[in-house]
Amino acid sequence: MIIDSITFLPKYDATLEQNAEYLRQILPLMSKNKIAADPLNFAIFYEYIIGRNIRLNNELDELLGKQTVFTSELSIQLFKKHICDTSINSLDKINHTLLQLINKTSEAIDTTGEKASAATLHFQNQSKKLENNQGLSEIKAVLAEIIAETQDLAETSKTLQVQLDESKKEMQLLRQELAQARETAKTDALTGLFNRRAFDQKLNECIGTHKQNNFELCLLILDIDHFKQVNDTFGHQAGDSVLRYAANLIKQHIAKHHCAARYGGEEMAIIMPNTPFNKAMEIAEKIRSSLAQHPLKRKNSKESIGKVTLSIGVSSFKINDSIESLIERADKAMYQAKDNGRNQVMAENFI
Ligand code: GH3
Ligand code: MG
Ligand code: MG
Repeated sequence: MIIDSITFLPKYDATLEQNAEYLRQILPLMSKNKIAADPLNFAIFYEYIIGRNIRLNNELDELLGKQTVFTSELSIQLFKKHICDTSINSLDKINHTLLQLINKTSEAIDTTGEKASAATLHFQNQSKKLENNQGLSEIKAVLAEIIAETQDLAETSKTLQVQLDESKKEMQLLRQELAQARETAKTDALTGLFNRRAFDQKLNECIGTHKQNNFELCLLILDIDHFKQVNDTFGHQAGDSVLRYAANLIKQHIAKHHCAARYGGEEMAIIMPNTPFNKAMEIAEKIRSSLAQHPLKRKNSKESIGKVTLSIGVSSFKINDSIESLIERADKAMYQAKDNGRNQVMAENFI
């Protein structure tokens, strides 16, 4: 799912003509299934028609197959689950806990502050009494009051200390949860690679850095060959396992400073900052050959899925490049690898 980094909204970049075509498909589909064409349902069916959100499509196929009634609760649930990034839920939770914590702590500080001011006033009065009354019994009574007041103040400050200690612990937990939520927001749940949003951000950063120090920056686009056949023959879960396997293999071959992301359905991308073109080609070839080396087997039944292969395109950043032009050249090279018979690595400017 492609999501805007600030608003957590999905990103759409279809042309006017493409959108007109989607519209022609969406409305009859919604009408056939008696789905109200409200904005939420339209977004759900738009995602369905453009087909980039395979999990949504599967769930929707199942629901439509069972002729499920689309209540607004169901629409909201589908939208939240598949379209709006769910990591926002955990951020909401953290936000809520943080607010509670701030309120609790400031209440405790306020109470202590009020008590301290009251005590100061009291002490001033007592000291005036001491100045005016010299009798021993009077002095004793005033001292007893001062001692009681001091003890009360010590109690209150102890309570505040306990409250502050608790807040500190809760803060540390929140900090961990926040770090975890940040990671989740960047990660693709199926493969554990970076997601498209994180990829966009990283590529942006890398291009900025590249412009400053002129290090070489390469980009790989990797697409699984005939992946639809894997799904069609062995089922969607087997397809998911193949995706995870390919992602793990990629992780094993890249350097720590490289960034591998799930770019689309069965398409992955690797950003290689500070990496010469030859090195990027070499790593691409290692990934390709090690995946193609052995046929894959299903975990439980040991049934053979056959050899799964990748077509890979490689581009390197040039002085006048934009993000789009860099991606476009890697993409073109990847499609050339497909045209040449798949299971191969193709460099940009292959002509
Ligand atoms: P090509 O060699 O030309 O790339 O053919 P292909 O079959 O790999 O490409 P195509 O674009 O026709 O099909 C891609 C398929 O990937 C279709 C879609 O069902 C599947 N797919 C996309 N995302 C996922 C996913 O998360 N899990 C599974 N199991 N399949 C997915
Ligand atoms: Mg493919
Ligand atoms: Mg593809």
